[in-house]
Amino acid sequence: MNPLLSTNGLEAYYGDFQALFGIDFDIMPQEIVAIIGANGAGKSTFLKTITGLLKAQSAKVMFKGYPIGGQAPHRIVAEGLAMVPEGRRLFPSLSVEENLLMGQFTKRHGPWNLEQVYLLFPILKAKRNVPGTSLSGGQQQMVAIGRALMSNPDLLICDEISLGLAPAVIKEIYEALGTIVQNGLTAIIVEQDIGMAKRVSQRLYCFQEGRVSLQGRSDELSHEQISHAYFGV
Ligand code: ATP
Repeated sequence: MNPLLSTNGLEAYYGDFQALFGIDFDIMPQEIVAIIGANGAGKSTFLKTITGLLKAQSAKVMFKGYPIGGQAPHRIVAEGLAMVPEGRRLFPSLSVEENLLMGQFTKRHGPWNLEQVYLLFPILKAKRNVPGTSLSGGQQQMVAIGRALMSNPDLLICDEISLGLAPAVIKEIYEALGTIVQNGLTAIIVEQDIGMAKRVSQRLYCFQEGRVSLQGRSDELSHEQISHAYFGV
């Protein structure tokens, strides 16, 4: 089987500053792969590069067998890659339902629609007419995930979706992610909580100073290996 997405020697720059130094990464269909690493390790830069927000050489990012590096973000979304951004970023003037419908702009066909999102997160149905930004942090995160699902992606990318949320909500959101993957999706998650990252993923990459410092099966990596790769000590 071929990877759904892979990068090969991926580099990224902010002006003259090099933030990524040759990242080799792959994810197979229906896998959950976690990316961990300390602040500044390059996780967000990696996500920005594969979603087209930062420049990349075309063939250094392959998605479904085609080079997508450097394409415009909206084209990459249309090809089936959706991002749940850090900080949720809902449209403040729109209701929950209108925020969800914004995810449909790609017109991609697939199993996800309003009804399916409301089945996944029933609270959103009850709150569908209120402004998205009046919800709790956890509920806003559900809207952000639902909006990404509405584009019927093949690959869902989640940037620190548990940040600042209560443990019970985090559990609910990760259980939903399990359901989402059972329905045929593949997911990359960036997660600060190493224990959570290990539990919910099949494989894990650790970034350090713009490089992959460790990768492997999440259930086979020891705490010592991870601490060393994470902190470099
Ligand atoms: P965090 O967990 O804090 O989000 P991260 O692993 O996502 O960290 P990045 O945000 O990708 O790390 O940062 C990688 C490097 O790139 C850091 O040295 C950071 O200072 C730098 N960097 C990030 N964004 C910019 C920017 N807009 N301009 C210049 N340098 C940046």
